[in-house]
Amino acid sequence: SPEAALVDSLITTIPNFPEPGIDFRDLTPVFADGPALAALARGLVAPFEGRFDHIGGLEARGFLIAGAASVVSGAGVLSVRKAGKLPRAVLSQEYALEYGTAALEVHIGQLPPESRVLIVDDVLATGGTALAAANLIERAGWRVAGIAVALELGGLGGRARLEGRGIETFSLLTY
Ligand code: 5GP
Repeated sequence: SPEAALVDSLITTIPNFPEPGIDFRDLTPVFADGPALAALARGLVAPFEGRFDHIGGLEARGFLIAGAASVVSGAGVLSVRKAGKLPRAVLSQEYALEYGTAALEVHIGQLPPESRVLIVDDVLATGGTALAAANLIERAGWRVAGIAVALELGGLGGRARLEGRGIETFSLLTY
């Protein structure tokens, strides 16, 4: 699609970041380009049109996409934040990192029960982050409409993990 081609042309690869041997995909040039960010947002919400009520943005790069997706779809943003950032009562979901654990949090009661949430993020790798967000949203009493990412890193098992849990997964690009 023209959207995918525009986004693809702006993604850069940074070798050995954040550690030796890792090729980091940098989407900041996409976020810095107005038409590209709009194209990304349109491309991510289109497959789920009419099937979600809110956009779930994952801190921090997912927030940028979620804001743009909100404007193009008219749906508000659910803030899915890292531990300790939200001021009200939270529900917390731990997940495994390569070393140790992290947690994502949402405000309890932020959305009406059964709200359909489309989760968005920049990159899908192992799927651990997206799966934690999906678990959190379901535990909070909402429904996961699907997961939409700009870029899926194939071969890391993320899509299989998510689809194995019955979660519809869309990526604009696959590397
Ligand atoms: P996963 O949990 O699927 O293994 O990793 C996905 C999470 O890590 C996403 O929140 C994503 O932002 C981040 N991530 C992993 N690899 C990359 C990468 O190469 N580039 C960017 N921008 N984010 C990455």
